[in-house]
Order: sequence, then C-alpha cells, then structure tokens
Amino acid sequence: MNIKVGASSDVGRVRDANQDAYLIDAPLYVIADGMGGHAAGDVAAVTAVKVISDEAGRVSAQEPDSLAALLKDANAAIWERAQSERAFQGMGTTCTLVYASDAAGYIAHVGDSRAYRLRGGGLEQLTEDHTLVGRMIKEGRIGAGEARTHPQRNVITRALGIDSSVEVDLREIDLEEGDRLMLCSDGLSSMLDESAIEKGLAEAPDPQAAADRLVELANDAGGEDNITVVVLDVAGGDGPAPAGAVVPARSDQEPRVDTQPDAQPGTKSISAGSDDGRSERRRRAIIRRRRLVVSLVVLVVVLGGGYAAARWALDNSFYIGASDSGAISIYRGIPEEIGGLTLAEVERETSLALEDLPESRREDVILGMKVESLADADTTVSNLQDIARAYRRETAPTKDNP
Ligand code: MG
Repeated sequence: MNIKVGASSDVGRVRDANQDAYLIDAPLYVIADGMGGHAAGDVAAVTAVKVISDEAGRVSAQEPDSLAALLKDANAAIWERAQSERAFQGMGTTCTLVYASDAAGYIAHVGDSRAYRLRGGGLEQLTEDHTLVGRMIKEGRIGAGEARTHPQRNVITRALGIDSSVEVDLREIDLEEGDRLMLCSDGLSSMLDESAIEKGLAEAPDPQAAADRLVELANDAGGEDNITVVVLDVAGGDGPAPAGAVVPARSDQEPRVDTQPDAQPGTKSISAGSDDGRSERRRRAIIRRRRLVVSLVVLVVVLGGGYAAARWALDNSFYIGASDSGAISIYRGIPEEIGGLTLAEVERETSLALEDLPESRREDVILGMKVESLADADTTVSNLQDIARAYRRETAPTKDNP
C-alpha cells in the first residue's frame, strides 16, 4: 500500500494565530486543535504531536491499544505541564490520529477534529465528535445542520490535557485502493456542510490540491477558526511515495518541531501554528469544565464520598436556571458554588429570558428550579413558556388583544 499525502493549515480569517498542529509520520497521521489562552493552546497541540512523534516507534498494528496509549501519554504530558505552569492551566487539545499501513487501518481520537473517508464518491464521517451538540445529535435531539449553528457548538466534552486521564475512542477501518481519507480541525467542518466537503474533496486531482481547496473553501465561507486539513490517498503498490506527497510548511507559520519538508515514508513533518487568539467562548467552556473537576475534588473531601459518586450525581442532576445576562437554560449539575466555582454547565438553551416571565416567577429561576430528569426539564420549560405567553398577553398593548 502506498499513501500519498497532502496537508494545509491556515489561521483563517478571524483568529490572529494558528493553534492547530499536525503530524505526518507514516504510518501515523495526526491532527490536533489546541485550546487555551495566549500560548497555551499552541503548547497543548504541539505537545500532543511531539509526544506521538517521539513514541511512534512503540506502535504496533498487532496491538491497536498501543495507538490509544499514544494519546493517553500525550494527555498525561499536557496535563502535567498545565499543572506546573499557571499560564498553561486549563489548556487542552483535540487529537485525531490515523494509522494506515498494509497491515491495518485504525483511528484513535479525542475531541471534535474529524476523520472522513471518501469512497466511490461518497463521504463518510469516521469519527464521532466529543461535543455537547455531538451528544445531542446522538440522542436525536438535533440534526447535523442545526449543530453547525448551535450556540453551544464549540463546547467539547473530551480533550487531551484537561484531566489526569482520558478516554480514547479507537476503531479499526478498512482501507481500499482509491480511498481518500481526510483529517480536519473544526475550522473546516464548522464552516462547510458535508456536501461541500464531499465536493471539494472529490474534485481535487491529488491530496495536496484537495487540502488546499478545502482550506480555501472554509476561508471563503468565513474562516472563523483555524483550518487544518490532512488528506491521504490510498494507492496500490510499494516503494516510495510518488510526487504529491510533499507536505509544505507555510512560510508564515514555520513549524517549530523536528520538521522535514517532505513526507516520504519513514520521514516526519510536524506543523504548528503560533500562540494566541482562541475562541473565548470555547476557552471558557474548557475552563468551566476544569473548574468542575476541581470542584468535584473539593466535593469528595466535603462529602467524604467517592469521586465517581460525586461525578455521577452531578452528571445526573438538572435544573432550570438563568445566566448573568438573563438567558434561561437547562443546566446539568447543581445550582451551587464551592469557593466561587460553579458546579453546573449549560445542557440546553431555551428561547426564554428572565424578562419574559412575571416578576413573581423570576426568583425561582434565578435560584435554580431543580428537576428530576431532562424530560422533566422540558416539561418545566414548556410550562414556563405558557406562563411567558400569558404574561405577554397581559402586558401587550390593548390593540394587539382583540
Ligand atoms: Mg478549531
């Protein structure tokens, strides 16, 4: 089997720095999308690809767990660094790794960077996003189209470096001659729908043209995040990769680590962007999650119970509450703080705000209306919507009420 590779990484049109990184180190192909303030996201992403690169020799197709172990080791390295330096606290990164050899094909991944396979003109997503909206899609609550514009679309539920251990998704994939695999950061998948990705991928004559074209399309669509694309063509035969396997390093984001400009089998190329400019919202989401973990550790002490029990309790508790701006949402967790740390995160937004409700009902929501389940939460929200409608009728000008 012969793999032709193309790759492209771009800061996009909005961010001022690129915190994505990728690694071409046959048979390993990796993409990482870092998050964290200032340099932290960059450090997280580069640490991930560096650890994987350093440990690549330990991987065996006969022991697929060795692939998951690479991501776990990367997780540990990022976590340790985040603990040791204040500037790096809360940093994390997604990581999606493809192993492609004659012996086998595997994907190991954490986060929302994706792997796709184009076969016979049809595109298939091979990874499942570890995001809040990913969970909602899985539960059938929203569709893929809705997910791309959902207000919580940037909230990821799993990343390397934000906890001392991490669960890695590992799956075997079959590879056939003619397959085109694509790894991408969410700067691509959040800007283009599946049919646009399929078209861009299918029309390009070679992997490098495909990577360049997809980055261009994402920028044309707004380029709201860093965009990184790695494309692999599965060809027959043996021997060195033909021309077209060269991975360019963009001049404006010089790779920092162990870089070689070509990707002949056995050589490696790591590319990383530079610091700063991450989505503030996503950063906060990660920090919130981190806080939750910290809070849970406190809870263990307070309750004298086990971490798992506390975690379970929080993951299975829901309430209706309001944000500082007055937006009413369904929260997962409890409406409490320990030492200024919140113990909840938004599970689902609603169309309601505090001001839609009569004054007498607002305090309940501000304090947090405990519900037994998500289904109960929906019923309560629906009741609140009825109350809001009645309140609107009461307060509307008379001419609107025949
Ligand atoms: Mg991103």
